[in-house]
Amino acid sequence: MGKSKKHFIIEDLLISDAGSEGICVGKYDGQVVFVSNVVPGDIINAEVYKKKHSYYMARPLEIKVYSPQRATPLCEHFGVCGGCKWQNMQYDSQLRYKQKQVFDNFSRIGKFDFPALSPILSSENIYAYRNKMEYTFSDKRWLSIEEMENKELFNLNGLGFHLSGMYDKVLDIHYCHLHTRMGNEIRNAIKSFAIQNGLSFYNARNHEGLLRNLIIRHSVCGDLMVIVVFAYKDKYLSMLMDYIKVNFPQITSLMYAINDKLNDSLSDVCVQLYAGKAYMIEQMEELLFKVSPQAFYQTNASQALKLYQTARAFAKIEPHHIVYDLYTGTGTIALFVARHAQKVIAVEYVASAVENAKENARLNHIDNAHFFVGDMAKIFTDEFIQQNGHPHVIITDPPRNGMHPEVIAQILKIKPHRIVYVSCNPATQARDIALMNPLYQAKAIQPVDMFPQTHHVENVCLLELRATL
Ligand code: SAH
Repeated sequence: MGKSKKHFIIEDLLISDAGSEGICVGKYDGQVVFVSNVVPGDIINAEVYKKKHSYYMARPLEIKVYSPQRATPLCEHFGVCGGCKWQNMQYDSQLRYKQKQVFDNFSRIGKFDFPALSPILSSENIYAYRNKMEYTFSDKRWLSIEEMENKELFNLNGLGFHLSGMYDKVLDIHYCHLHTRMGNEIRNAIKSFAIQNGLSFYNARNHEGLLRNLIIRHSVCGDLMVIVVFAYKDKYLSMLMDYIKVNFPQITSLMYAINDKLNDSLSDVCVQLYAGKAYMIEQMEELLFKVSPQAFYQTNASQALKLYQTARAFAKIEPHHIVYDLYTGTGTIALFVARHAQKVIAVEYVASAVENAKENARLNHIDNAHFFVGDMAKIFTDEFIQQNGHPHVIITDPPRNGMHPEVIAQILKIKPHRIVYVSCNPATQARDIALMNPLYQAKAIQPVDMFPQTHHVENVCLLELRATL
């Protein structure tokens, strides 16, 4: 059909690749066509709903040939819930496209020489691998078309995930396959109890209703933490908390919080202990970590161990080395490498995370890891380096937007022998490595799959100071 129309149909479009953000792509008339909810290898009829200068956005109308890379999604919520966009793709293929995502970013954005990528480290568990889930209560759950057409009265309360672009609606989750069976049981029991007893669910538009959020976490040591977030103090609070306490004795930390702010963020809210202990214990190799309710801990713990082991192996730390761990979070990488080094200097801008890191250093009798609170671009100065020692190795694990140019400039100025760059975004990682390329050679690249069923990929890259300099 003619391209003059805004909406038009492309027939027999071959889906050739899985692009960034998990959206698949095909080619039509020399243009890239982005299509969701399909799999590379599918041949489809697609309806274009948006035309841009260099690409089209389309939705699948009919799948004419099903790709051999397809898998049957386990989840009844697949396609509506945006959480696991790749559940319809076999795990082998997911891994291949993640590996390719790293390669493509390094070759297209980076434009520097790099060695062959090591095969991505796959996750043993491809479902139920998350140790933390955050659910939202809403008095206006998302309704399917069938439900909307059905004129009977519904209970509109839901407990689940926000749908993208709909801040006041949640998809009511019956079973989330990234969560454990026990986690699903606890969530569903709390929802049923709340509905049966008339506890009100929050309305994010007019800020009314009692129940706001539910966070369920567990650790490899068997600890189980449940935090219920209420909008205000109410007689129903202890009724619900007692119900949870009596019915789920496996919970080792039962907690609640009152959040009367407009946003859901828990970082500035006081979390109260209702029963059990105020933290969970996590373990990696011989290290123990105390994890308090607001503290960050990697959500796929067994893959995080592989990630850290890779980072440590790349760092080749010797006993006389001074190691810097930039963007340390709760200090897990710093503590993980401390026993191999003379000392570790770690920086993070969330003060409570640094408090956790210090406590965990004490817990593990590590006294050569020193933690500093500050914005990397501001704290990482000549004076800071003079005071703390010149690094032999820098390990850096920045957030998705990568490192600030001033941080990169400082690294280039002080020229550590080795840099280990851990990243959850290979695009910004490639951009940053390109800036360091004149002085540093990429020597090893190891992608790690932390998040099966999603397009997210973690990547570790070793950079070494060029010999000629
Ligand atoms: N290495 C840690 C966490 C990495 S996530 C781990 O493996 O657990 C990135 C961390 O960078 C977060 O803890 C975030 O709070 C911190 N961060 C983000 N921007 C920062 C900045 N400008 N200065 C210092 N820390 C920052």
